[in-house]
Order: sequence, then C-alpha cells, then structure tokens
Amino acid sequence: MEGKAVIVGAGPAGLTASYELLERTNIHPVVLEESDEIGGISRTVNYKGNRMDIGGHRFFSKDKRILRWWETIMTKREDDADRELLTRNRVSRIYFLRKFFSYPISLSKETFLNLGLKNTLRSGFGYVKARLFPLKEETLEDFYINRFGRPLYELFFEDYTTKVWGKHPSELCADWGRQRVKGVSLSVVLKDYFQKKFQGGKQPKEVETSLIESFQYPKFGPGQLWECVADDVVRKGAELRKNHSVRTIHVEGNRVSSVDIVDANGEKSSESCDYLFSSMPIKDLIASLDGIEVPADVRRIASELPYRDFITVGLLVKNLEFSKEKGADLVPDTWIYIQERDVKVGRLQIFNNWSPFLVKDPEHTVWIGLEYFCDENDELWNMSEEDFIQMAIDEMVKIDVIKRESVMDAHQVKVKKAYPAYFGSYTEFEEVRKFLDTIENLYCIGRNGQHRYNNMDHSMLTAMEAVSNIEKNIVSKDNIWSVNTEQEYHEKAS
Ligand SMILES: Cc1cc2nc3c(=O)[nH]c(=O)nc-3n(C[C@H](O)[C@H](O)[C@H](O)COP(=O)(O)OP(=O)(O)OC[C@H]3O[C@@H](n4cnc5c(N)ncnc54)[C@H](O)[C@@H]3O)c2cc1C
Repeated sequence: MEGKAVIVGAGPAGLTASYELLERTNIHPVVLEESDEIGGISRTVNYKGNRMDIGGHRFFSKDKRILRWWETIMTKREDDADRELLTRNRVSRIYFLRKFFSYPISLSKETFLNLGLKNTLRSGFGYVKARLFPLKEETLEDFYINRFGRPLYELFFEDYTTKVWGKHPSELCADWGRQRVKGVSLSVVLKDYFQKKFQGGKQPKEVETSLIESFQYPKFGPGQLWECVADDVVRKGAELRKNHSVRTIHVEGNRVSSVDIVDANGEKSSESCDYLFSSMPIKDLIASLDGIEVPADVRRIASELPYRDFITVGLLVKNLEFSKEKGADLVPDTWIYIQERDVKVGRLQIFNNWSPFLVKDPEHTVWIGLEYFCDENDELWNMSEEDFIQMAIDEMVKIDVIKRESVMDAHQVKVKKAYPAYFGSYTEFEEVRKFLDTIENLYCIGRNGQHRYNNMDHSMLTAMEAVSNIEKNIVSKDNIWSVNTEQEYHEKAS
C-alpha cells in the first residue's frame, strides 16, 4: 500500500492512524492540527510547571492491543528516561450534603450514617418498589429509577445528570444509560461489595468498568504519551503541522482528492491525498465538503448535532479543608463528583493523586481541577476569565473545600465540543453515516470524528480498524463504526 494520507487532527485518533500507517503500510501520513497543541482533548496543559488534564484521563481498556500499544510507547528509553506508565488507585467519591459517599453509591455504614435513617428507609423501599414494578424504559430517568429506585435517583443522579448535559434525565434517551452506565446498578454494587468481602478485598475477575479500582497513567499525564507518539511518528517519517486548520475537503466522484488548509497567519495552502482520516467534528466535516452533492437532510442533521462544552479551572492551593478534618495531608481521591445543589461545579480533580509529577511542589501545594459543563455561548461560557475564576473560588469556599486565603494561583481552560451528545438530531445520525460511507477513501475516526462518546481506547481502535481496512482492501466501513457499540461500559461522565 502506497500513497499519501492526510490526517485531520493530532489527537489520539489522528496520531494512532499515523503510527499504524507507518507500522503497517508505505502510505505517507501528513497530520494537520489546527491548534498549537498535541493530544486533542487528551492533552495535558502545563501551567507554570503544574500540569492539568482536560478532566482526568484514566488509561484503561478491555482491548489487549491498546494496553500493549500504550506500554510500548511509554517504555523508558535511553534518550527519554521519563517515559513511564504509573499504576494508580482509583478513588472517586461523591461529595453531597458536605459529606463523602462512595461512588457508585454502595450500602456501606457510611452511606447510612450520612443519609440518616429516614432517607435510608425511603431508599430501601424505593429500590424494592422499582424491582417489583419496573418502569417501561424510555428515558434516562426511567433507566436510573429501574436500577436504583426513585429516592436514590433523586438524591444522586437527577441533579448531576442535569449539570452534565444541561437537560433533565426525563429529556434524555434511555439508550445513553444503557451504553454508558449499563453495568452499574444497585444489584451490581451489592454483588461487588459481597464479592470483595468474601475475597478478602481482592478485585473480582469479572468487574464492571465503572468499578475498576486501578488504572494506568503516564508520569506527566496523557499529554506526555501523545507528545511521545508525535515525536515517534515524525522520527519515522510522518509530517505533522500544528496551527494548520483544514477548511475545505474537495471530493471528485466518490473520492477525496485534496484539502484546503489555513495556517495561524491566515496563509492558505492545499494538500492532495489518496486517503483522508478525519477526527474533526462531523458537524464541521459535512460543512467543509466541496464537489459532492450533500443531501439537504444530511446537511441539516449534521449542522444541528448537539455537543456539550466544558470549562476547567486549575487552582493551586496550600491545602484542602476536608483533608484537615480527617487529620490527613490529603484525601485519597483522584476525583470527586460534586453533587451539591448550590454550586455549578460538577467534578473536582486532585492532580496530586493522579501523579505527584504533575505538581511542581507536591509537598506543599495541592493542584486541583474544577470542572464545569456548559454550552458554547451560554452564560458560563461568556463570563470573563477573571469572573469565572472568582466564581470557582467562591464555590469551593462555599462548600467547604478550601479557605479563600489558601488560593495561590489559578488557570482557566475552555474546551469546545468536549462531549458529543446523544439527543436532538443525533437520533437521525444514521443518515449522515450512510452518506459519509459513500466517499470511498474517507475514514471517520475518533470521538467527534464519529460523534460517539468514545474514550481514548475507542478513538484509537477506530483508527486501527481504518488502517486495517486499507491494508486488507476492505471497502465496508462497518467495523470502524462498530467500535464502542457493544452496549457495555462506563459511568456517569468521564
Ligand atoms: C472531561 C473528559 C474526560 C475524559 N476522560 C477520559 C478518560 O478518563 N479516559 C479515556 O480514555 N478517555 C477520556 N476522555 C475521552 C478522550 O478525551 C477522547 O476519547 C479522545 O481525546 C478523543 O480523541 P480524538 O483524537 O478522537 O479527538 P480529540 O482529542 O478531540 O482530537 C481531535 C483533534 O483534531 C483537531 N481538529 C479539529 N478540527 C480540525 C480541523 N478542521 N483541522 C485540523 N485539526 C482539527 C483538534 O484541534 C484536536 O486536536 C475524556 C474526555 C473528556 C472531555
């Protein structure tokens, strides 16, 4: 196999495509990245020596190819002794009523004490009622109630889901829950609890992904791994151009022939190609097509695809108030779900616990990440950076996470289209997919590239499948679109 592949995006999907092409074919990869950074949403931002993820990124996969791939990249080398994958303990709890609950909620003594007798009894009866009289599962609300009972749903899922998606669970489709939270229900939590009791605390062999208790993590965060991949592919002959945005995709007959590009200085250029791998959002992809008749319905569905955007604030603080209560230096959590109703923040990352190497002075400072879910151009999105940071600090003080005087520094990062959403015109997405599949040498890969809630491993697998198809002359794209459709997996929001 020879020729040239243009790859749109230097995130996990685009970089994996480039790596695999070099390993398995003679096709020359040209990676075009519109930002100044490597890693896409899986980048690690370095702010004055303190590093933060765009939401903590766990490295976990059920696919052995992916685990081997990560290990290969992160094996120490003579010229790069920092390549290392750490194994970290996942501790993530829910913070609600100014108290900690285990995640997913479990029937621990702590839960009973925190909820009080009345709420515990209500929850127990609610759960029994849900099991005896299950609802017809149409919405995400029905899905949660069937698995946890109404009282626990109202306490732990209703508000959080609304924070994450900007929509009430009754407006969201049950399919989302089936895909993202399928393995988690009160019965699974109970099974996990008793298995652990009988296995002396060991992790059961068959464990739902949401309950996995350790994960891998590069020493300097996910961005380190993707920087390493970028270095490796360039060394092996790939071209990688940052600050190059793909604006127009020219199609001749049923094949992409070239792309038009604009760089950071506004300079225009074009690049011919034999293959196009696209990890750009489907909404932008459809809008950029030229030379092919795009059916009106396909154009409409794509232009209305919904996304959820994301703002994170890194706060450097001297200490956390809730650590002091327990007399510990630091709580053990990697991240905490903030379920409090009087604040907008959704999750809190404690980067010291992801890797001490992320923090410049881990002995004396705590580097936390506050996560807000929003829509591009809504009230949160349009706030000035200064006001936003002030609000974030106020919220942390309000829910007793920090004292105001503990704050040493802050940094804000805004991320468009962090979450491809499964409502609105997404229900008609199949039309778009069918149309895109008619363009022979176009491969839609990754998360926004497929408009699917793909994690890094899924995003990588879509790229691997696409390269396999080219290598084996397989015309159908079904295997590429089938990644992450196995209807298992995941959790509230990641
Ligand atoms: C808050 C949060 C937490 C997450 N946690 C985890 C986790 O714990 N574990 C996990 O495995 N995954 C996690 N993920 C998912 C993970 O971030 C994604 O699966 C992964 O980054 C998707 O890779 P990608 O290459 O498809 O897309 P992206 O990472 O979005 O990269 C796409 C790249 O394409 C570029 N681009 C877009 N349009 C153009 C254009 N027109 N021209 C040129 N370049 C363009 C973008 O600038 C970007 O760099 C999380 C995601 C979020 C939002």
